[in-house]
Amino acid sequence: MERPAVGELTPPNRTLMGPGPSDVHPRVRRAMATPLVGHLDPAFVDLMDEVQELLRYVFRTDNEWTVPISGTGSAAMEAAIANLTEPGDTVVVPGNGYFGGRMASMVERSGGETVTVDAPWGEPLDIDDVRAAFDAHDPDLLAFVHGETSTGVLQPDVPALTELAHDNDALTIVDAVTTFGGVELKVDEWEIDAAYSAAQKCLSAPPGASPLTLGERAMAKIEQRESSVNSWYLDLTELTDYWGEERAYHHTAPITNVYALREALRLAAEEGIEARWERHERVANGLRAGIEAMGLELASTSWLPSLNTVRLPADIEDATVTDELLDGYDIEVAGGLGDLSGEILRIGCMGHSARRSNVLSVLGALGDVLGESDGIDADAGLAAARKELSN
Ligand SMILES: *Cc1c(COP(=O)(O)O)cnc(C)c1O
Repeated sequence: MERPAVGELTPPNRTLMGPGPSDVHPRVRRAMATPLVGHLDPAFVDLMDEVQELLRYVFRTDNEWTVPISGTGSAAMEAAIANLTEPGDTVVVPGNGYFGGRMASMVERSGGETVTVDAPWGEPLDIDDVRAAFDAHDPDLLAFVHGETSTGVLQPDVPALTELAHDNDALTIVDAVTTFGGVELKVDEWEIDAAYSAAQKCLSAPPGASPLTLGERAMAKIEQRESSVNSWYLDLTELTDYWGEERAYHHTAPITNVYALREALRLAAEEGIEARWERHERVANGLRAGIEAMGLELASTSWLPSLNTVRLPADIEDATVTDELLDGYDIEVAGGLGDLSGEILRIGCMGHSARRSNVLSVLGALGDVLGESDGIDADAGLAAARKELSN
């Protein structure tokens, strides 16, 4: 085999305004360039304690079992679902977006049976439909997505859903991948039993170490399981020794990703969690004002500030727009998924990307790309965003 003539690494310098990853803060990049230590080094053990403390702050929880799972958000999702689902369990899952479908697939692989509560893509679940599913199927678990990245829908009134589940002796699993660190989320106050996220959304760290928190009821269910979890890597009973007092070897932690996560969480703590939620809402509101003044509309009936879905004019394909934004402006946004494929743009407003300058860049570029289309007023869009963001 020939010696490969591969050049130096020179990735393009993009502005990341899609559904994740978001722009990484320079301090996080710097943290990743610091020296590696062994994952059982006392220095790393101390650092893990700090990461746990910071994760609890952002989750708004005192849960002892709050850890970064090695892997992307889907690994944390699978850790929650595979550990909490026992063969024969009935699990309510949402049918109003792409990630609900992924939850269902994981439940089935763990031997659980799914009951899907549907709503059109672009709308949240209706609590009456969830209640009807409880009445008909007496489920063991209720899983739902707090911020659906495929539709831009924020599931409102989480406490009403957790209360419904608890009144029926079921536990709750909440996908907080696109809300953690960006949109109001209160694990303890809302009585969520298990929640997970990822590093590359509103936290703006690279993907690879993903937040997970489990309350006492959830840990009790896992400890009382009769069958073993159908994953060695993600079996939380095996991981207990690693995260507990002993710090015994289970697998090698992704050390550099943990450094990055720590710095990203530290930035969130410095900003203050409420201030951070407020910033996401304010900046995304500027984006929304610009989109609407330009003559476009959002495709979601329950606005999720961290992920804005924009309905495109019927004659415009989403891929045309996303390609032009990437090639001509170095801006990444995404097109639609599933039921909304081809029809929408998904514009993220997450973490370090949730900034005035990023929003104005996206709107300027979008105005250039769509400006010739019927009913689009690019200048009005920019003016509205500037006005909204000047306050
Ligand atoms: C991104 C995302 C995931 C999956 O995370 P990965 O890091 O891509 O594995 C799960 N749920 C939601 C809502 C997401 O946005």
